[in-house]
Amino acid sequence: MPSYEYRCPKCGKFEIFQRITEGPLAKCPTCGAPVKRLITQNAGIIFKGSGFYVTDHRSSDYKEKAKEVEKAHSQS
Ligand SMILES: [Zn+2]
Repeated sequence: MPSYEYRCPKCGKFEIFQRITEGPLAKCPTCGAPVKRLITQNAGIIFKGSGFYVTDHRSSDYKEKAKEVEKAHSQS
């Protein structure tokens, strides 16, 4: 199941797992405020929980590391 990141004006960023067949979330599940889905593919990846903010590094070393993190991320 893919996970999506949203930004809530009150709670900040959060991640939620959704089925592809489900539509995008319109409201924050915590406070009910309208939320926006964040587009994370290719354009800067944020790994929540790791305190690790990635923008646009392109070294092969970085890519290997990002792959590992992504793998761990998708398994959780
Ligand atoms: Zn909220």
